[in-house]
Amino acid sequence: MAAAIIDGKAVAERRRTALAEQTAAFTRETQVVPHLAAVLVGDDPASGVYVKSKHAACEKAGMKSTVHRLPGATTQAELMTLVQQLNADSLVHGILVQLPLPAQVDTQAILDAVDPLKDVDAFHPENVGLLVQGRPRFLPCTPHGIQVLLREYAVPTAGAHVVVVGRSEIVGKPIGMMLVQKGATADATVTICHSRTRELASITRQADILIAAIGKPEFITAEMVQPGATVIDVGINRVDGKLVGDVAFGPVSAIAGRITPVPGGVGPMTIAMLLENTLTAARLQTIPANR
Ligand code: NDP
Repeated sequence: MAAAIIDGKAVAERRRTALAEQTAAFTRETQVVPHLAAVLVGDDPASGVYVKSKHAACEKAGMKSTVHRLPGATTQAELMTLVQQLNADSLVHGILVQLPLPAQVDTQAILDAVDPLKDVDAFHPENVGLLVQGRPRFLPCTPHGIQVLLREYAVPTAGAHVVVVGRSEIVGKPIGMMLVQKGATADATVTICHSRTRELASITRQADILIAAIGKPEFITAEMVQPGATVIDVGINRVDGKLVGDVAFGPVSAIAGRITPVPGGVGPMTIAMLLENTLTAARLQTIPANR
């Protein structure tokens, strides 16, 4: 039987509708409009598209969004100055530095400079530390989106074996860390794999929930998947102008229990979670008791 489709687009739409209502209520109560400042350096076309859709989504949710576009030759010092200005601007609640940054910029130093209370991507070491300790301030957007999808589709996680392929700071490591925590939509037994993992297929075949965050088109084949498993495809790869995930969707959906499509799976959730973090950031900065 073909896998059930996990419809991230529909879930994200519902979350965004609810968020727009929460934002309106927050603004009524406080007169504060949550404001996300995005920083885009250079002219990478994919980054440009991401920033544009984040900007549009903010406005739709009743939030303010400003985009700071800097030339590709921007220096470390210039970018740092902008980040510090945004940190100091009390009308800005969330700061998003779109990655990748050009080679001349020390990405880690820039991300570390973002005020942890405005760090809506949850990249700052303080926020990563809080997440690891199971008391998050912000949940990282893509991993949070995955967790919401698992919850919405009532995928059992307690005691389940989750195999994550990919160990990036943005997806692989944090989703592993979130699902291994105690609590609802967590309590999983987590294995994180990467390019040095031996016998990868023998591990992925043990997964009740398989999360692919690799960045290689259709890398996960049907032979790597346990029949009935839930397969979450984080990958966004452009092949001949078409978006393709890290999972071979056709063959894998023939044996998996549930699967996210690309596009329309994890991608829309990432933006919805970014908006939720922006409202959280506005709350944290407006109502100090929330910190
Ligand atoms: P990275 O390139 O940072 O990480 C890729 C990971 O895959 C690395 O840990 C790497 O291992 C591992 N890997 C590469 N080749 C293999 C292999 N042959 N076997 C096992 N593991 C391998 O990617 P990201 O995590 O940033 O992104 C992954 C994908 O998800 C990309 O397609 C990206 O576009 C997409 N993405 C989608 C988002 C969304 O909203 N849907 C958000 C963020 C990313 P090693 O560490 O050893 O090199």
